[in-house]
Amino acid sequence: MAYIHSIAKLFEIKDPNIVLEDKVDTLLVKEVTCKVIFGTLSYQPAACQNCGVVNRSSDDLIKFGYKTSRIKLTTLGLQPVLLMLKKQRFQCKHCQTTFMATTPLVDERCFISNTLKQMITLELAEIQAMTLIAKRLNISPTPVSTQLKKAAKALNPSKQTLPEHIGIDEFRSVGNRMSAIIMDVHNHRLIDIIPERVQTELRDYFMRYPREARLSVKTVTIDMYKPYYQFFQRLFPNAEIIIDRFHLIQLLNRALNQSRIQLMNRIRYTRPTDYTKLKRLWKLLLKHREELDFERYHSHRLFEGLVTQKSMVEYLLSIDPKFRIEYELINDLKTDIIMNNVTLFEEDLHNTRHYTVSRHVRTAFTTLFHYREAIENSLTYTLSNGVVEGMNNKIKTIKRSGFGYRNFEHLRARVFLSQKLLARSNKPIRPLYFSDE
Ligand SMILES: [Zn+2]
Repeated sequence: MAYIHSIAKLFEIKDPNIVLEDKVDTLLVKEVTCKVIFGTLSYQPAACQNCGVVNRSSDDLIKFGYKTSRIKLTTLGLQPVLLMLKKQRFQCKHCQTTFMATTPLVDERCFISNTLKQMITLELAEIQAMTLIAKRLNISPTPVSTQLKKAAKALNPSKQTLPEHIGIDEFRSVGNRMSAIIMDVHNHRLIDIIPERVQTELRDYFMRYPREARLSVKTVTIDMYKPYYQFFQRLFPNAEIIIDRFHLIQLLNRALNQSRIQLMNRIRYTRPTDYTKLKRLWKLLLKHREELDFERYHSHRLFEGLVTQKSMVEYLLSIDPKFRIEYELINDLKTDIIMNNVTLFEEDLHNTRHYTVSRHVRTAFTTLFHYREAIENSLTYTLSNGVVEGMNNKIKTIKRSGFGYRNFEHLRARVFLSQKLLARSNKPIRPLYFSDE
């Protein structure tokens, strides 16, 4: 008896209505050797499942034979463990119908235990291919994707309230579609990902929330994608639109990089060694001016004698006076952004008008000028889409692991699951339980 008790414990069969047999067998199922244990499920039901009549005596409900189902219980090492469960059938004397005994171990008409389903859900939260999960748990891929769909449903956002600070960014999802990711940038929580970045979808999505929810949004952090700007202002009338700092720096760096390439093209045949220097040291030019090291001297194969990061950049700037001006103007603005100095930023931006710069650098400055109100917000609030960027990277990893998700809902569910698990990572991990409903 003690032996049977430990089997029950080992496989977490907690239902007292299941009586296990003192026997373990093996069975070959589709060329896989499985361990098999045996049990019987029976009890006195409280009422008829179909007509609801209360079971008082054998005049109400009678036991009416058994039906055996083969349940995939769990996996032990690499070996699947099956439970041959003899389920009691009951007959109702009042409505003449029959029904089967039920157990929390496995859902009705289901052949995979709930423990195994929880294991699938936990595995789905890890970054790995679904086929691999199926293989590891010795099941077919179908229950894995079924479980994924169920899990996704359970994780759907409430559509009742919105956080005060939301961040929206785009990412490439399935089939090269540009999708949108929505996050609570304050609490670093994923709100949702939606298939298309286009305005109609975003509007439909947010319109599903009550108006009060949209009015409660205080800031919306976005990138500099132009159509977004007014659109979000209309959608969230009380919100300040914030342009993400990361995107501001990115815009400036891109302009500087273009200047470097233009200069390279100009001197390619006249000054080939300078060309090579500009080509190889692009990272140093994009590094923030104040962060360049000026103390550590070392040798560099492109330079004679000892150099520092600072002296190398100084050399590159000496190649062309216009390039130097552009570098300084751009770095002034970058400093202001990093230091959150709104006044200096406005001043420096105005200051750029006194200099002749390349067309693309001018375009970048004009863009900043156009968005200066939103930029002011981003330098005032300490919020940043950094978390969104982080999430974006995570999605990329998930996409790679799934060998490119063709189904957006699958991708979305996986992202949600991994996020949920992440959120509770400092608490003990408890398997998520999803009923069949
Ligand atoms: Zn009945």
